[in-house]
Amino acid sequence: MSIETIKIFDTTLRDGEQSPGASMNTEEKIQIAAQLERLGVDIIEAGFAAASPGDFDAIDKISQRVINSTVCSLARAIDSDVKAAGEAIAKAKMKRIHTFIATSSIHMEHKLKMSPDEVIKRAVRAVEYARTFVDDVEFSCEDAGRSDIGFMKEISDAVIEAGASTINLPDTVGFRLPFEIGAMVKEMSEYTKGRAIISVHNHNDLGLGVANSLEAVVNGARQVECTINGLGERAGNAALEEIVMALKTRSDVFADYKTNINTKEIYPSSRLIANITGIEPQPNKAIVGKNAFAHESGIHQDGMLKNKETYEIISPADIGLDMDDTLVLGKHSGRAAFKDKLSKLGFIISDEELNASFDRFKILADKKKDIYDDDLRALVTSEMTMAPKIYELISLQLMDCSNGVPSAAVSIRKDGKEIIDAGIGEGTIDAIFKTIDRISGYEGQLLDYKVKSVSEGKDALANVTVKVSFNGEPAIIGHGLNIDTMLASARAYIGALNSYLSMEGKLKSRHSDSSKTI
Ligand SMILES: [Zn+2]
Repeated sequence: MSIETIKIFDTTLRDGEQSPGASMNTEEKIQIAAQLERLGVDIIEAGFAAASPGDFDAIDKISQRVINSTVCSLARAIDSDVKAAGEAIAKAKMKRIHTFIATSSIHMEHKLKMSPDEVIKRAVRAVEYARTFVDDVEFSCEDAGRSDIGFMKEISDAVIEAGASTINLPDTVGFRLPFEIGAMVKEMSEYTKGRAIISVHNHNDLGLGVANSLEAVVNGARQVECTINGLGERAGNAALEEIVMALKTRSDVFADYKTNINTKEIYPSSRLIANITGIEPQPNKAIVGKNAFAHESGIHQDGMLKNKETYEIISPADIGLDMDDTLVLGKHSGRAAFKDKLSKLGFIISDEELNASFDRFKILADKKKDIYDDDLRALVTSEMTMAPKIYELISLQLMDCSNGVPSAAVSIRKDGKEIIDAGIGEGTIDAIFKTIDRISGYEGQLLDYKVKSVSEGKDALANVTVKVSFNGEPAIIGHGLNIDTMLASARAYIGALNSYLSMEGKLKSRHSDSSKTI
């Protein structure tokens, strides 16, 4: 038997983006897409073009940038969605439209209020229309996990006839067990053999997303949909890194399959997505958690020193994690060493970005003795994903808040002019954010605030992520990076404001019907 390739379909930018509950800016999405391309994913689901002008815009820009992966947009089985998808991916070298409609009786009756025949008609129309834009069309039976298999065969026949070449069977509600997914995939892949490939999209509500995906592979699925760090609606999707490393590590069992993933890009991908979304994988998360390669017990440490394979089934180097923790750079490092280090970390950046990052590195190196890989990753990511600097923080002064009213004086530059104001708040952070609101005239509602130290030590960099809704509009994420947590907070808030202004009127409403997807 020849070795078969399992296509990796990454939906971090679509299903994954639904998990932060806030939009990423376009630059952030482009950087994620570029990293997914380096990782070697076969298909990048870049968004849901009809959901908002911001989504459309990001998919269009990603289509112009990505060369080695297929760029895909999701579309409901309605003409306006398919048209938006087709137009958003028009400039991509390889492109796919992914359309879907629910096939379970519970969804057809209660959500769609349509008969099975009407559902088939809508699906066929969507696929035929999608084929006027692209050759590569994927059709999803939403809620396949709870759909009648006879009906799925019927609708598959119809959409394959209409031009679909991939049939996806999403376990939208994360309900199925591995043996059930295995049986469904086996029957469907035998049925569609030679006509279409079967794909799976397993949600993780019972913690079985990865197990279900692997069971699907051995039963005939040739495409697996997944996300970095397992991001996604509710409990998330099957984690890309776990599926890929299970296939690789257990190549004795999975000898007949391979993926196109460059596993050394797994750790950089995980860090980039955690830095941008502000959602850290749990410490004990398989493959990419902070403790995934930490050996605490004395017996284990002793074994590890004698032979790593005693307790280690994966080498950290295989996922691109440098465990040496060597000091990478310091204040005397020059531009060439800096550039060299960044390229080793997988960053491909323009001269302009290099200069800006190097300037920030120098400022940091003055304050922080040891600069680690993760510091550089966070620093360069924040530089590369920054929205245009409409507002820029010049200085921040805080009153001692141990007793008395917390207050902040903030100086901000806009259009070359410096604006200074001061204000009070419930706490120091509140005082800073309220003062920024007064200066900008935009009223922000803070929905989430997170601070994380990027590396170890007292002088560790603070990475602050805020989720803010300005003037009652959909929320957006902002980031700030500094040794000083208060400065990082002010930068994060201004970053969110700049992202908001760069996408004003283009954000999707989280409550709109179009955000409900597979
Ligand atoms: Zn999903």
